[in-house]
Amino acid sequence: QRCLSFIKATQFLNAYITIAEETALKQAEESEERYRGGQILGDLDGIPVAVKDNFSTAGIETTCASNMLKGYIPPYSATVVQKLLDQGAVLLGKTNLDEFAMGSGSTDGIFGPVRNPWSYSRQYREKSVQNSHTENEDANWLVTGGSSGGSAAAVSSFTCFAALGSDTGGSTRNPAAHCGVVGLKPTYGLISRHGLIPLVNSMDVPGILTRCVDDAAIVLGVLAGHDPKDSTTVQDPFKPFELTSFIDASKLCIGIPKEYHAPGLSSETLALWSKAADLFENAGAKVMEVSLPHTRYSIICYHVLCTAEVASNMARFDGLEYGHRSSMDKSTEVMYAATRREGFNDVVRGRILSGNYFLLKQNYETYFVKAQKVRRLIANDFVNVFRSGIDVLLTPTTLSDTVPYVEFIKEDNRTRSAQDDIFTQAANMAGLPAITVPTALSEKGLPIGLQFIGRAFQEQQLLTVAKWFE
Ligand code: GLN
Repeated sequence: QRCLSFIKATQFLNAYITIAEETALKQAEESEERYRGGQILGDLDGIPVAVKDNFSTAGIETTCASNMLKGYIPPYSATVVQKLLDQGAVLLGKTNLDEFAMGSGSTDGIFGPVRNPWSYSRQYREKSVQNSHTENEDANWLVTGGSSGGSAAAVSSFTCFAALGSDTGGSTRNPAAHCGVVGLKPTYGLISRHGLIPLVNSMDVPGILTRCVDDAAIVLGVLAGHDPKDSTTVQDPFKPFELTSFIDASKLCIGIPKEYHAPGLSSETLALWSKAADLFENAGAKVMEVSLPHTRYSIICYHVLCTAEVASNMARFDGLEYGHRSSMDKSTEVMYAATRREGFNDVVRGRILSGNYFLLKQNYETYFVKAQKVRRLIANDFVNVFRSGIDVLLTPTTLSDTVPYVEFIKEDNRTRSAQDDIFTQAANMAGLPAITVPTALSEKGLPIGLQFIGRAFQEQQLLTVAKWFE
């Protein structure tokens, strides 16, 4: 009830698309009864959580923030959602996002942009009013980052204890960093994607947003493991772990990728990054500069692979089986075209067009196959670095702290994503686990996160380092 009242009090953030009040209260009551009867289901029994609106939830509308799916009520729940419920978690509602998770601001969905809770912090308000050229205080509100901005805002504003996001190019880590919470993108294949409405199947992973690293480890323990409904999940059983607060830093080898000194990196973030490296060094860890030479191709390569997969994924939305159907139905072709024009925003339609272009018979080798080869090179860079003895890479998560909405929308979605995903994207190319940890506040009083990237399936090591750092 407390969480629901927080949600209502912060409705202006636009973090939630659907509030599942009735079912949430019922789940909470059932949990209470189990508690009284001494029969708790698991670590998450009675814990209020939120889920990004691109995960299917049985009986609860699932929209992907798109006209195409508005009103769609899935007949089944995504495996990860089911696992949360099986452990007794209380599902408060579905969170806002960019349409079909395409974006890095949570500004491009049909329900409107998500507002960053930090817009209303005292320090930021005082500074922004001083510096602002407008009388209107409200003009300074900040974006959450995206595309899982609703989930990040939901955790950051204390309306829930954990939220699911999705991460294809940084969509969990980017908003987590901008909202001052922990964002974990697990290894590809560790967590089921069944029921996560796909963006880029070969890169998508469910992400976990929490207030601290320990909570992320608990949720990971609940979600991880093989799913017969997702053939890309690994067979090996996952052993949940508890994090220790002590590590022997002298046994650690931290890599600092030199290519991450990217243009546009704010001096504050750079300073924080080197301070963090010093912290490890002072604790006895070996800190080494490393090179990931192909990382600079990752954004352009992502553009080809993402749009190609989008083009084929979106083919299912034809107005026949579910979702929106246009009333312009003179012929099947007319109906298809009108449905997709009415159902998708410009960003989605633009990606479908470019993807189909890259997949044309005469372009397939030049773009799609080439991009796949480059992806392999990007992934191999990481293999080489970890083979050389590096345990974990330390990088910024974003170029700077977040920006006001009015600034953010000056550039189009594609340009924005290209800048905003620069430090996060390569981990998706390589399928590696990565976590952002809130590290400090900027001059403007806004959160800055740093990212750790680990070896595949070495979440325990990654989270242990992150916890020590936190
Ligand atoms: N910003 C990237 C995009 O727009 C990543 C999105 C994501 O991770 N879901 O595609």
